Amino acid sequence: MNEFIVSPLQDMPSLYVVATPLGNLQDLPPRARDTLAAVNAIAAEDTRHSQRLLDAFGIRAKRLLAMHQHNEQQAAGQVIEWLAQGQHVALITDAGTPAISDPGARLVARVREAGYTVSPVPGACAAVAALSVAGIAEGGFRFIGFLPAKAQSRRTTLMTLANERNALVFYEAPHRITACVADMAEIFGGGRKILIARELTKLHEEIAAMPLSETGVWFATDANRVRGEFVLVVHGADVPNGVDAAALRVLGLLLDELPLRTAVRLAAEITGEPRKGLYAHALEQSR
Ligand code: SAM
Repeated sequence: MNEFIVSPLQDMPSLYVVATPLGNLQDLPPRARDTLAAVNAIAAEDTRHSQRLLDAFGIRAKRLLAMHQHNEQQAAGQVIEWLAQGQHVALITDAGTPAISDPGARLVARVREAGYTVSPVPGACAAVAALSVAGIAEGGFRFIGFLPAKAQSRRTTLMTLANERNALVFYEAPHRITACVADMAEIFGGGRKILIARELTKLHEEIAAMPLSETGVWFATDANRVRGEFVLVVHGADVPNGVDAAALRVLGLLLDELPLRTAVRLAAEITGEPRKGLYAHALEQSR
């Protein structure tokens, strides 16, 4: 048993970073509900969206403040003012954990710099939910979040990740999902495994594991599959003896566009593989 049963609030005025459900309202923990009901103000990414969540739980916010990516610094000033008056403030975003590919990190940093306590009220996070069903027993993971929106920048970023041994966790928007997995198949290699976690905790939740080479067919099989929200968990690079297979694919792509020496130099910089091994492979390929 703990003291939150008496009051969800700390002794000193604090900022509570509260995770909210990804879709299924039953995923709002009791402590989150109690905290949102008890604080003097709630800073929310989208106040209209959050009002619906609060209404669903019968929580009447004493104050609601809009805090989004375009006004975060300004909102931080207001939150610090309230804390200075001895008030407690909660931060929520539209879904999941604030500050994870969401606004909130700047506000948190400003509040801590100002000397106030920042306390997490943990709960749903799409990346963690997807990882929990990915079945990746070995190694760690690297959270990437959203890739760049432009195709060329996305491909360049994927090239820099081709050699990563840890699993990679991405968020992706529906209108880019098929182009994104196609680029992954080309750059990481079709044999690399991926877990596609779609609409987690919602009515049309779908979780599928497959080699990257099969993702095109998987999406083409059902037009609904390109709709909704996605987390992609890609297994880490498998590095046998010699030059890593993913690095060789990066080299191959660069060799298509550039002179041999430049391609080798860039491939070494991008992938971290030794230049000598790459050079030998480049000579072989060019023959
Ligand atoms: N802060 C959130 C979190 O803790 O997961 C993430 C916010 S980010 C702006 C939104 C992205 O998270 C979506 O584009 C999608 O990639 C992922 N996401 C959010 N909800 C999801 C869900 N129910 N199923 C799958 N992915 C989801």
